Amino acid sequence: MALHFLPDLAFAREMDAADPLASYRERFLFPKKRDGQECLYFCGNSLGLQPRTAQAYIEQELRDWAELGVEGHFHAQHPWLSYHEFLTEQTARLVGALPQEVVAMNSLTVNLHLLMLSFYRPTHERHKILIEAHAFPSDQYAVQSQLEFHGYDPRTALLEMPPREGEYDLRTEDIEAFIAREGKSIALIMLGGVNYATGQAFDMKRITAAGHAQGCVVGFDLAHAAGNLILALHDWEVDFAVWCSYKYLNAGPGGIAGCFVHERHGRNFDLPRLAGWWGHNKQTRFLMGPEFEALPGAEGWQLSNPPIFQLAALRAAMDIFDEVGMTALRAKSVLLTGYLEYLLMREPARNFTIITPRDPEQRGAQLSLRMHKNGKTILQRLLGQNVICDWREPDLIRVAPAPLYNSFEEVYRFTEIFLREV
Ligand SMILES: *Cc1c(COP(=O)(O)O)cnc(C)c1O
Repeated sequence: MALHFLPDLAFAREMDAADPLASYRERFLFPKKRDGQECLYFCGNSLGLQPRTAQAYIEQELRDWAELGVEGHFHAQHPWLSYHEFLTEQTARLVGALPQEVVAMNSLTVNLHLLMLSFYRPTHERHKILIEAHAFPSDQYAVQSQLEFHGYDPRTALLEMPPREGEYDLRTEDIEAFIAREGKSIALIMLGGVNYATGQAFDMKRITAAGHAQGCVVGFDLAHAAGNLILALHDWEVDFAVWCSYKYLNAGPGGIAGCFVHERHGRNFDLPRLAGWWGHNKQTRFLMGPEFEALPGAEGWQLSNPPIFQLAALRAAMDIFDEVGMTALRAKSVLLTGYLEYLLMREPARNFTIITPRDPEQRGAQLSLRMHKNGKTILQRLLGQNVICDWREPDLIRVAPAPLYNSFEEVYRFTEIFLREV
């Protein structure tokens, strides 16, 4: 594929002209400098841009609240009582799930804890948790505190799988071998679908199969995978998964997160869980009885009536995603990230190393560049030229061309500036 790329602006513009998704760029608001110039925004893996429609979706709820008060629960244009259900079908398509397997609720780390309370069921012989080395700190804290909550010492009960010496990414066959060797002591395998630092996409299907072969429960944190990769959580038989919606999904800061519980667990009412009224049988919820009766499926893990304004922003974002579909989005993403890689590699032996896998199957829309020196200064100089990407200690610049709103021309302009600075 790289063979067909050309390193010039005219080519980038041809790619944009041939891009079936090019018009979606107009549906988003780009941050601007004081002089009115739009930034080159490559941070959609951290906070996605605002869909132009988000404001109208939220204003509708403000209006219904003003005009209807409590009656809005039933009579709002999108009744609040069942508001989260407007997101169900779209979310299911997004992650490759059945509708009853998904729900939008809470935020990511909260969902991670709620689902671990149900799915991390340690016994004396089998109580360890496996994560990838250099997992996102919140996930690291979450699993450590779950271990401690159950009386185990993270120093012995938390297994953190590192890459081979001298490598940045984990090899799937090494993960499989590790699970085959240690699996009998592992209660829960809890990896990121895409590692936030390296941008590596894990082979979730193979890892799930390897885990199940050893009797482990397998969950994924899809913070960097949802809206980025084509997912098939149901077919892969993943036990549970969680993700946030403010990164690739563009639902705004603190957006409502998602969770997935596989069908085969959704009707297992013996699973221990924390309960709240929104997870209770909808028919009898307002009879206000004392006995909790869990809803089947992922909805049965809900606790509270949800924040409607945030859900409205999520609807605005998900309506766009659903219109585009992950197949078309991923096809563009592979080209766009491939073009970024091609341009960066034009002149090798620069002051950086791409640590994201070179195989498109093992990455999403992000390239992580390990800076050999002066990385932070370089990032500051990029910012001074209207380029927004981000820094991760100790030496990483992450660049994420989001296929929904970034163009080939932007990727070209980014590399022109970046290569001048390194
Ligand atoms: C972004 C991200 C988080 C953030 O957690 P919140 O609960 O949404 O604040 C957690 N884990 C991973 C892997 C992430 O990428």
